[in-house]
Amino acid sequence: MALPSDLEIARGASLKPLDDIAAEMGLPAHHLEPYGRNVMKIDLGAIDELADAPRAKYVVVSAITPTPLGEGKTTTTVGIGQGFKHIGKRATVAIRQPSMGPTFGIKGGAAGGGYSQVVPMETLNLHLTGDMHAVTAAHNLLAAMIDNHLYQGNQLALDQHNITWRRVMDVNDRALRNLVVGLGGKADGVPRQTGFDITAASEVMALLALTTSMTDMRERLGRIVVGYDADGQPVTAEQLQVAGSMAVMLREAIKPNLLQTLENTPVLVHTGPFGNIATGNSSVVADRIGIHCGDFLVTEAGFGADMGAERFFNIKCRTSGLTPDAAVIVATVRALKAHSGKYRVVAGKSLPAEMLAENPDDVAVGAANLRKQIENVRLHGVSPVVAINAFPGDFASEHDAIRQVAEEMGARVAVCTNVADGGKGAALLAEVITEAAAEPTDFRFLYPAEASLKEKIETVATKIYGAADVEYSPQATRQLDTYERAGFGKLPVCIAKTHLSISSDPKLKGAPTGWTLPVREVRASVGAGFVYPICGDMRTMPGLGTNPAATRIDIGPDGEIVGLS
Ligand code: ADP
Ligand code: MG
Repeated sequence: MALPSDLEIARGASLKPLDDIAAEMGLPAHHLEPYGRNVMKIDLGAIDELADAPRAKYVVVSAITPTPLGEGKTTTTVGIGQGFKHIGKRATVAIRQPSMGPTFGIKGGAAGGGYSQVVPMETLNLHLTGDMHAVTAAHNLLAAMIDNHLYQGNQLALDQHNITWRRVMDVNDRALRNLVVGLGGKADGVPRQTGFDITAASEVMALLALTTSMTDMRERLGRIVVGYDADGQPVTAEQLQVAGSMAVMLREAIKPNLLQTLENTPVLVHTGPFGNIATGNSSVVADRIGIHCGDFLVTEAGFGADMGAERFFNIKCRTSGLTPDAAVIVATVRALKAHSGKYRVVAGKSLPAEMLAENPDDVAVGAANLRKQIENVRLHGVSPVVAINAFPGDFASEHDAIRQVAEEMGARVAVCTNVADGGKGAALLAEVITEAAAEPTDFRFLYPAEASLKEKIETVATKIYGAADVEYSPQATRQLDTYERAGFGKLPVCIAKTHLSISSDPKLKGAPTGWTLPVREVRASVGAGFVYPICGDMRTMPGLGTNPAATRIDIGPDGEIVGLS
């Protein structure tokens, strides 16, 4: 039987007062700030006040390499949070805030799905408490200060052709990717080419996700490099004297948002950095609060374990000082069939009919990807758990094929049916995670901070991606030298590559080896605190498709939203 739509299920939710949920988390009421009826912000004073409370087990949810089908990391993260309640444990969920670009583009809402959703889903998907817009404004204030600096005489001798700071907004709009600003007369500014990225791609967003406190945020904002001067020296937001104002604009956005699941599990929703050129993980401050609010803190890392989880371990945990106790890898039958390389799967199109037939052999072939992702978790000394996210058309033999691979690799495994059944469908998974998290962890970073940037890139490429080699363009080599000289060499690396393959070629499925990672260009998010090598075409401003979700979303006479799936 088909499930009702996500929006219909979400409307039927029985929400619990957030004061009660916060009390169950042990959050003191004086740190709560109501935002409308069903959302609260938590002020950062909670971090210090909770410091002595017992520490929850920390669980990161990642996946096999994504396919255009969506593997269900968010739904599983939410489901696990709900599942813990069914085995008598208190859990908190921590996820990113969805960007409105994809909400009105292809993806629709991103609050989970079926009976594992975050509610109110309309609020979550549409503006929430305005954090995205605060990031947009702070980012664009810096852009305006740069252009004003040029206009007012350019005392810092910024090289107009080497300004890396662009503008952002939270709409998919390809027409803004490349443009010329400052057109008109002399009084209208200095003409130069620039463009817009989506807000999720803003360094301010990445910075907000990685910051540990208000003071730290202020310092990181000051360290943002906006471009280079005539001598090739970096010019910062501090030098432009704007970091203080940016911090003021972000003073509310730094506070995590508290919502709940359909089963009243607490959910911290905070920040939404892009998964391709940034960390793709929710905020450090939310986790620093959530880690003291129950038995388990369950957080999602975007994309596959080679990307989101690798950054979770090597960037987010390095910054936060928190160490994970278990890592969940979400796998689905249909995605593993896609990883067999036999089928062409296209976003928004229905699946090829042969893919729907019972075929555990295809699943076993595609499971090469799952094996590698289990190994990637192990490389960090963390216990892996495979979550088989069950879809309606799956066959038991196909689940068994996944189970067999997980067991061969020594990973724990459980099927979850939480999308159809809610938390009770993830109770077994929660049990298995409890066992994995009880094992002693030997958490380790993949590389030391002292390694050179090239060593870091090569370590991730060969150990995590399975590359044989890394190849640098002359430009990339030059940029890496510049960053080492400027003192950015200690930063971790966030490799920007396709999420659709473990390699840098989206067409290669499974777990390819023997290939070369091409580093075309390297950029530095010095304020956020990482360097990002670019390997392939990276879109930082998505476009809209032929049939965007925006054409289906509408509002009824009673103010009810329709079409937000
Ligand atoms: P991710 O976080 O990996 O991108 P989501 O959890 O957002 O994936 O899920 C992607 C889409 O797939 C959502 O529309 C969700 O409702 C749907 N989905 C996920 N798991 C299931 C499932 N088991 N059955 C049916 N639909 C599912
Ligand atoms: Mg997700």
